[in-house]
Amino acid sequence: MGLVANESQLRGVAASDGIAIGSAYCYVPPDLTVPKRKPETNELELALFNAALVQARNELRNLMVERIGEKEAAIFDAHLMILDDPAFLKRIRKEVEGGQIVEQAVINAAKDLANMLAGMTNEMFAARAMDMRDVGRRILRILLSLPDCALSSMDTPSIVIAHDLTPSDTASLNPELTQGFCTVAGGLTSHSAILARNLGFPAIVALGDDLVESIPAGTPLVLDGQAGILFINPSASTVEIYRKKKDERENRIQQIRSIATKPAETADDIRVEVAANIGDLASAHDAVKYGAEGVGLLRTEFLYLDETQPPTEEKQYNIYRQIFEVLGHRPVIVRTLDIGGDKPPSYMLFPTEMNPFLGWRAIRISLDRLELFKTQLRAILRATEGYQARIMFPMIVDLDEPRQARKVVEEVEKELEAEHRPFAQDVPIGIMVETPAAAVLIDVLAEASDFFSLGTNDLTQYTLAVDRGNAAIFALYQPLHPSLLRLIKQTIDLAHSKGKWVGMCGELAGMPKAIPVLLGMGLDEFSMGPRAIPEAKFLIGKLDAEKSCQITEKALSFGTAAEIESFMQLILDEIR
Ligand code: PEP
Ligand code: MG
Repeated sequence: MGLVANESQLRGVAASDGIAIGSAYCYVPPDLTVPKRKPETNELELALFNAALVQARNELRNLMVERIGEKEAAIFDAHLMILDDPAFLKRIRKEVEGGQIVEQAVINAAKDLANMLAGMTNEMFAARAMDMRDVGRRILRILLSLPDCALSSMDTPSIVIAHDLTPSDTASLNPELTQGFCTVAGGLTSHSAILARNLGFPAIVALGDDLVESIPAGTPLVLDGQAGILFINPSASTVEIYRKKKDERENRIQQIRSIATKPAETADDIRVEVAANIGDLASAHDAVKYGAEGVGLLRTEFLYLDETQPPTEEKQYNIYRQIFEVLGHRPVIVRTLDIGGDKPPSYMLFPTEMNPFLGWRAIRISLDRLELFKTQLRAILRATEGYQARIMFPMIVDLDEPRQARKVVEEVEKELEAEHRPFAQDVPIGIMVETPAAAVLIDVLAEASDFFSLGTNDLTQYTLAVDRGNAAIFALYQPLHPSLLRLIKQTIDLAHSKGKWVGMCGELAGMPKAIPVLLGMGLDEFSMGPRAIPEAKFLIGKLDAEKSCQITEKALSFGTAAEIESFMQLILDEIR
């Protein structure tokens, strides 16, 4: 590749495949901490608010003029309407009259109104919750005299450069304008990386501090999301090479999309299930669109995070029901709540933990907070009526936990029966194999589990003692590590010896370099981000039992992840 004098490169973790050619949009989230001050008179506080409203209107009108598409204009139009919304204005006045300074009044009003909208089952109102939060942040930012640098102000197609992106930042990226993103922090299975794959943005994470220090806004960039390389001020020849690669990739995606709706089958007609990992209603629609034969993991955390109180049974029931309706006859595995670790909700008091990933999370919280757990189980079970749902417990380490959790399910079923509330009978109950403890105990855990699903995101970090989100050691986070592959093989063999079905819902299941190896191990179900499904079905269709077993045997003979990766690259080059 012809490097010219000012072309440079940064290497990070290839978090989401794809190529982007564009210029940098530097996202620095404004610090919206409100400095302490005494309230002025009500009139003065409201005058400050009115002045901020005028500025907010001007900013939004300017953005509408500059924006290119109708869709973006519609978003800002909705924001403008909120600025005139009588409920919002009335609430601000009430807060100020109650003695709040106007900044706090805006925070309280936006949060409460957004939560109220988010709780509505009507999708259109729920979507307005995000608009409400955005408008609240805009007014607060103006009140704090900070410049406008929100993600929503991006007005030309760009590659986003940021220190880190929270899942809600990632979700608020405008898909029409975002070409891809690069972050200083993060890891392969950090939640923003998973979201990038689900949304189909090319992304590189863990690029280090040089990223924000060496890239001013507008810098020309080429983002290679497969190799994890970011080219800064790329030469004309680099741009040309990547333009060609991008076209080839897009043609290939078109070709394999056509097989997405067919069942996953090897070249010698062995059926395996290719399912989707989803985390909300929108991704349920994506699952169907990209050809999922079921849902191998419904992450239910979205209901618990970004909230000021735990979701009610009714709210959960409605959402689960809507998701089941979208999936129709397809089986859906609902994972019970997996909060804690890197996902603590604001309304629960969490202990300060030295190692949150080794701490109070997932099933440990559910078994300690039975009311929270029972509410979720009641909502899931009620929603199963007429559908093929399954329940799965996260972070299991011994037989006692699934035994206890199953007892709670039985109690809830009895309650529902007594209340004459319908629910599906004999809902299969499984566990996630995401701790080495569970993996080596599979034959025993089979007593309390109808099926297993390998959660390799956590299994990798716990087996290799490498934090999945720590950018400083990202090179050590190796899902294709030989120890991990051996542990997975052992898990599948042990489960099969007990007649149990084993799937995988960790990111490894959707990695092209892993699919042939996992197929040769006899994995029953591959569950992945919806967009990875067509490629997975394509690869499975190119392999047969004999070939995949040979690949697995060879892969298991290596001693390092690097050797396994290069071997698997050769295999991919051969079959693609
Ligand atoms: C996993 O650990 O592999 C998994 C699928 O769960 P999460 O990524 O939500 O921790
Ligand atoms: Mg996990």
